[in-house]
Amino acid sequence: MDLVFRARRVITPQGEIACDVGVAGGRIVAVEPRIDSPNVVHLADDEVLLPGLVDTHVHVNDPGRSEWEGFETATRAAAAGGVTTIIDMPLNSIPPTVEAAALEVKRKAAARVSVDVGFWGGIVPGNLADLKPLHEAGVFGFKCFLLHSGVDEFPAVTTAELEAALRELATLDALTIVHAEDAHTVRDSEPDYAGFLASRPREAENKAISDVVALTRKTGARTHVLHLSSSDALAILEAAKRESLPITAETCPHYLTFSAEEIRDGQTEFKCCPPIREADNREALWRGLRDGVIDLVVSDHSPSTAELKQGDFATAWGGIASLQLGLPAVWTGARDRGFQLTDVVRWMSTHPARQVGLRGKGAIETGKDADLVVFAPDETFVVDREKLHHRNPVTPYHGRTLHGVVRQTWLRGKETGTAQGKLLRRGEA
Ligand SMILES: [Zn+2]
Repeated sequence: MDLVFRARRVITPQGEIACDVGVAGGRIVAVEPRIDSPNVVHLADDEVLLPGLVDTHVHVNDPGRSEWEGFETATRAAAAGGVTTIIDMPLNSIPPTVEAAALEVKRKAAARVSVDVGFWGGIVPGNLADLKPLHEAGVFGFKCFLLHSGVDEFPAVTTAELEAALRELATLDALTIVHAEDAHTVRDSEPDYAGFLASRPREAENKAISDVVALTRKTGARTHVLHLSSSDALAILEAAKRESLPITAETCPHYLTFSAEEIRDGQTEFKCCPPIREADNREALWRGLRDGVIDLVVSDHSPSTAELKQGDFATAWGGIASLQLGLPAVWTGARDRGFQLTDVVRWMSTHPARQVGLRGKGAIETGKDADLVVFAPDETFVVDREKLHHRNPVTPYHGRTLHGVVRQTWLRGKETGTAQGKLLRRGEA
C-alpha cells in the first residue's frame, strides 16, 4: 500500500463513516476501520474526505478562444476546487468538436492538465455521418442546441435534425445532452435584467424540454437536459421519469445560489442562458434535487474575456465562471436547507460519473481511482476573484461568504500540483 488516508469522516456509498482508505498504484484498494501503514495522511478533526468531483459541464474554449479559458488554467482551477475530472464541451473552441479530426486537435491542446479530462462531441446540421466516428474516438456523448448557441460555428439543430441524430445515437447507446430553450419562444433581450429575464422566459425551457421528452419517447435514445433553470419543467421531467424514459437533468450552482431579485442592471457577471430566475424558482430547484427529479449539479463553467463580459444584458457574453467554486457554493446552499455532504457528493461526483460511464470515478470504494478531496465543511471564506485560477476570474461569487474550504485535492493517489491529469476516452476510465 502506497498511502493511507485516516479520517473521522469519510463519505462512502454506505454513508459517512470513520475509516482508513488505502491507496496503491493510484487506486483505492481498501476501505477499512484500520490499515497499518508507515504512510498515513491524517485528516484534521474538522476535515472530511470526499471523492473527487466530476464536472461534466465545462467550456475550456481551447484552442481558438484560449484567451477565454485554457486547459492549464481550467484544470488548475478545477483541482483547487476539488474537481478531479472535467468533461469539456464541444463548442466555443475552434474548431468545435463536431468531427473526429477536431477531437484530435482538442486532445493536442490539452497537453498539460492538472486533472483528468474527457470530451463531449457535438451535433450540428449536416454532421450525422460524423457521429459514429466521434463516438468510436471516445467522446462521452453529444451536445446540441435548439437555439443559437452564442457562437456561429456551432449552429442549432431543428427538432427534425435532432430526431435523426437521436435515431443514429440510439443504435450506439450514446448519450445526447441538450441545451433546451425553444428558439421560437426566446426573444431579443433588453439591456436591463428584467428585460433579459423576460426575453428568455420559463416557457422557452418548458417547451424545449417537452420536445426532448417526446423525442426520447419516440427514439428510445438516452437524453439529458443541461442547466435546468425553469422549475416549471420539473413536473415535465418527473412525469417522463415516471414513464421510465431514459432522461436525466442537471442544474448549476448559480441557479441554486442567486436569485433574479438581487441582480442589478449592469451586473453582467450574472448573465447566463437560461437565466437566473426568481427566489421561489430557486427553492423549487432545491426541491427537485431532494426529490431526485434533478440528477446532478455541474458548473456550466463558461467564461469569456472580461471585456466581452461587460456592457449590458443584451450584449454581454452569457456564461458564468465557477469551476473553482462549485463545491463550496452548493454546499453552502445545501447545509442551509438541511442537506448533508452525502447529498452533495451524490449530485456532484457519483451521479455525473455514472452518467458518462466513468466506472473508476465518483465514489470512495475499492477499485475506484484514488481521486480524493480533503474538505473543511465548517470553515468559511470570502470569495476573492484574485485567488481564482480561471483565466478570466470575473465571477458573480466575488465578495460572497461561502462555507467549505478545499484543503487538498488528490488525483490517482498524488496531490494535485505534482500530479498529471490524463485524457480520458469513454469506456476506458
Ligand atoms: Zn454550457
